[in-house]
Amino acid sequence: MKAVTFTAPYRIAVEEVPDPRIDEPTDVIVRVEMAGICGSDLHPYRGNEVGLDAGTILGHEFLGEVVATGSEVTQFAPGDRVVSAFSTSCGRCFYCRSSLTARCERGALFGWVQEGVGLHGGQAEYVRVPLADGTLLSIDGELGATAGELFAGDILSTGLFTAASGGVASGAVVAVVGAGPVGLMCVVAAAEAGAKEIWSIDPIPERRALAESFGANAAEPESAGKLLAEATQGRGVDAVLEAVGTAEATATAYALVGLGGTIAAAGVHTEENFAFTPGDAYDRNLTYRAGRCSARVFAPTALEIARSGRYDLDGIVSHTLNLADAVAGYAMFDTRSDGCTKVLMIP
Ligand code: NAD
Ligand code: ZN
Ligand code: ZN
Repeated sequence: MKAVTFTAPYRIAVEEVPDPRIDEPTDVIVRVEMAGICGSDLHPYRGNEVGLDAGTILGHEFLGEVVATGSEVTQFAPGDRVVSAFSTSCGRCFYCRSSLTARCERGALFGWVQEGVGLHGGQAEYVRVPLADGTLLSIDGELGATAGELFAGDILSTGLFTAASGGVASGAVVAVVGAGPVGLMCVVAAAEAGAKEIWSIDPIPERRALAESFGANAAEPESAGKLLAEATQGRGVDAVLEAVGTAEATATAYALVGLGGTIAAAGVHTEENFAFTPGDAYDRNLTYRAGRCSARVFAPTALEIARSGRYDLDGIVSHTLNLADAVAGYAMFDTRSDGCTKVLMIP
């Protein structure tokens, strides 16, 4: 089959690799109909996150059709259409039972193989899904696959997770730092939670325009401090949802958050230190929450939102390419050239 493989930073390829097969009785094989490139794929692509083995099949956003099932799979059968959470989960361990499927004792992240251990990803014609009963969701009965359904497996769930981590409730004033796909889904999630006012902060105009289309006010990073101070009588916002993953973004989040407020970080950080000190946190009575989204927990709600038609989620997809054009897709998403906001690939 054809698959997108990692070689080294800025070097990926579309290669012919062996088809995956059922290794464990809890596995299924999915024929991929649609795969996304996520901001998280950019971390190893840019060399910011290291350790990924050469030859790893990339990607953790995919949906498609079940074509084979292991003997212990009870929830899915060949022909079922499914979307996957971006990490696998058994549904039974201590963490899964505490709604922390992202930290499942037996779980793995798609598209991450390090020193031979891990799981190949879904930017391929076929993908092996371990622990399928606890990982996949059915999308049967719907008209054709939509991007919104794909987003339930990662970015829309991550938006819901981040808004929940930020304690976003009815009437809240919320700032979302970053209007990439994850930040845009944070805007949607904050709107769903009943936020009174949502501010989206990003240097890229077309991404700010998408945030506005989901009901946010938009600001450039340089003017955000002044605008949000005006909007909150100088108090700062109740919650900042940080969807970038850099020290600058954390510094912006800290500058915007009010006394007693929360910074909820979706961004994957690779720097060594916080952009604020323990004393800074004390002085604001700050709550800071971070971590990998338990997508399998949030995905059912995400699917409902995607199917509700309340938001034009497909509208964030700037490019739909053939899987064979993945090298160009990664380059565009990395450099944000040609108005690139979200890339989908069709095998
Ligand atoms: P992306 O790279 O497309 O978007 C990042 C956006 O941040 C861009 O629009 C960029 O212009 C903007 N930005 C950069 N610096 C900024 C600053 N200082 N202030 C404001 N905006 C700034 O990526 P994405 O797909 O939207 O993902 C965002 C982050 O979320 C990544 O770090 C990704 O790894 C992470 N992520 C985390 C989870 C999780 O489970 N926690 C899940 C998915 C993605
Ligand atoms: Zn992702
Ligand atoms: Zn588990």
